[in-house]
Amino acid sequence: LEVQLRQAQKMEAVGQLAGGIAHDFNNLLQVILGYTSKIINNHGTVADNRSRLEKITDASQKAAHLIKQLLIFSRREMIARHPIDANKTIQDVLGLLKRTIGEQITINFTPTPSVPLIKADTNQIHQIIMNLCVNARDAMPQGGTINITTALVSPDAAFVRDHPWSRPGDFVCIEVGDSGTGMQPETREHIFEPFFTTKETGKGTGLGLATVYGIVKSHNGMIHVKSHPGQGTTFQIFLPATSANNQHQTTEYKITSVSAI
Ligand code: ADP
Repeated sequence: LEVQLRQAQKMEAVGQLAGGIAHDFNNLLQVILGYTSKIINNHGTVADNRSRLEKITDASQKAAHLIKQLLIFSRREMIARHPIDANKTIQDVLGLLKRTIGEQITINFTPTPSVPLIKADTNQIHQIIMNLCVNARDAMPQGGTINITTALVSPDAAFVRDHPWSRPGDFVCIEVGDSGTGMQPETREHIFEPFFTTKETGKGTGLGLATVYGIVKSHNGMIHVKSHPGQGTTFQIFLPATSANNQHQTTEYKITSVSAI
């Protein structure tokens, strides 16, 4: 019942998406139109115009980002799922990631060699990694380290019994951990809801983790979050290993302990 209730709340939240997006998008358009009209009416100096154009660029980029997130969340973009190597997929996005995250943050990627393939959309996996890392960066304003790992995990019956969020099978686990601010339990409860953000206006859309949630769910995966105030946050994304691998794979690694959600 609780799961159904949560699902109903989620659907309601999705229903509110369009209205919320329209509001945020409109605010950004007002910024763009305001500065454009100042330039057209030729108020001020060349330097003034330059700074206006920078503000227009900034607002346009935010608007484009908002729409991209919405499209992914509502899954209207073309999605192509193929058996892919999670290690290579993460490796391929590291360059872009490092540029986005900035120099204050070190990113360590420790792949487990030859994890089974996952049937997934490469762009969506990139999106998951990007969103988790951007949040990790925001949680470490003084700088720090993001640790990304991959592993093969096979929750067994006993594990599933003790961890209601899990289910048995072979999964590739992608873990993204930071040593940032961590979260209070009240915050952690709401992080997957669209438009939930604790960031100041203009900094967060509240769509990052809602997007991650939508993608993982559509891949029949699971998400687990470990977070403690002052001790950082670790997201674990479990994506089902392809069945071809499942038939031959022996369990290489078992989760033995995971803190409660
Ligand atoms: P946004 O980043 O735009 O706020 P998200 O959906 O990505 O939206 O995240 C929602 C909220 O979850 C954030 O505002 C923040 O409070 C919390 N959060 C997410 N990731 C982390 C993290 N790694 N450390 C601490 N808090 C986090």
